[in-house]
Amino acid sequence: MKAACLRQLGEPLALEELPKPGPAADEALVRVRACGIDGTDLKLLDGFGYAPSLPFIMGHEVAGEVAAVGADVTDFAPGDRVAVYNFITCNTCVYCRSFRDQLCLNMRGIVGILERPGGYAEYLSLPAQQLIRMPDAVSFADGATCCDAGMTALRAVDRAAARIGDMALVIGIGGVGSIVTQLLKAAGVTVIAVDIDAAKEAWARQQGAATFLSTAADELLNQLRSLSGGIGVDCAIDVVGLESTMAAGFAALRPGGRMVVVGYTPDLFPLSGKELAQNEKEVIGTRAGRRNDLARCLDLYAAGRLRSIVRRRYRLDQVNEALALLRAGVAGRIVLTFD
Ligand SMILES: [Zn+2]
Repeated sequence: MKAACLRQLGEPLALEELPKPGPAADEALVRVRACGIDGTDLKLLDGFGYAPSLPFIMGHEVAGEVAAVGADVTDFAPGDRVAVYNFITCNTCVYCRSFRDQLCLNMRGIVGILERPGGYAEYLSLPAQQLIRMPDAVSFADGATCCDAGMTALRAVDRAAARIGDMALVIGIGGVGSIVTQLLKAAGVTVIAVDIDAAKEAWARQQGAATFLSTAADELLNQLRSLSGGIGVDCAIDVVGLESTMAAGFAALRPGGRMVVVGYTPDLFPLSGKELAQNEKEVIGTRAGRRNDLARCLDLYAAGRLRSIVRRRYRLDQVNEALALLRAGVAGRIVLTFD
C-alpha cells in the first residue's frame, strides 16, 4: 500500500510502498477513503507536544470502509462505512466509565498521533472498538472531519455551557472554529468570530458568525466591549491558544463568563487572580472529544444540521503541498481523499 511516512522532524513526508497491515484477532483492516489534515499534524512535524516513535504514519481524521476483520470481530463486516475514534482507551478506568474517554488513564495510543499509525496511507489496522458506523448520508470527507474537528467542537461547546441568547467569542476560524460557530448559531447564540486572517470573513459569516473581527488585541477589546453593551461576552472559545488570544478571550468575558481553551501552543498567559475571583470568571480546558461526541457529530451531518467544512481535497501524493497550505492558513478543512 502507499503511505506517507514521517521519518525526520521538520522534513517533508516520504511517500513509500509498505506492506498492508494485517488485522489482529480483535482488529479491523480499514481501507481509507478520506483523511483530514489539521494543526496537530503540524505540531507532530515540528516535534511539539506528542512525540510518536519514528518512522510514523500521521492522519487522525479517518473515514473509510472495512476491508477485513480479525477472527474475534463480530460487530463489523467488510464493506461497512466507518469513522475512526482515535483515542484507544481501556474502557475500565474511572474516566472511561464516566464518559470522559479522552482522559483515559491507560491510553494505548492515539490513531495517527501516538503509537498507532494513522490515515496518511491506503489502509490501517486498528482495534474494532475504535470504529463507529457512518450513516450513508454522510460523505467520507465530512465523516473524516467529524473525527477530530467535529467531535472537538461538540465537546468545546458543551464545556462552554452556552445558552440561548448568549453572546460568544470564537477565536480562530479553522476546522474546529467553523463547526463551533455553526453549533453556537444553531443553539441561539450570537457569535463574534475573530481570526488574524481578514480573508476568512466571508467564510466565518457563512458558518453563522454575526460579526467578524480581525484586529490587534487592544482595538479588539474596545470593539468587543461596544458589541456586548460594555459588559463583555458570556463565553469565549479559544481555538488558537497563543498568549495574546487567551489574554484577549479572558479580558473579553463579562462577570461570570467562561473561557474554554481548545487550542494550545507552548505559550503561557498571565492570569489575574483578582480578575478571576472578583468577577467569578471561569477558565476551562477541553481535550478533543468523546466517542459519543463523534457519533453525535456524524448524526448531525446525516440530518443536514451541519454544513461541510471541507474546502480543499488533495491526493495522498500531494500531502506535503496540503500541509504547506495548512501552515499558510486556510479557512475550513483540507482533506486527503482516496479513490
Ligand atoms: Zn480508560
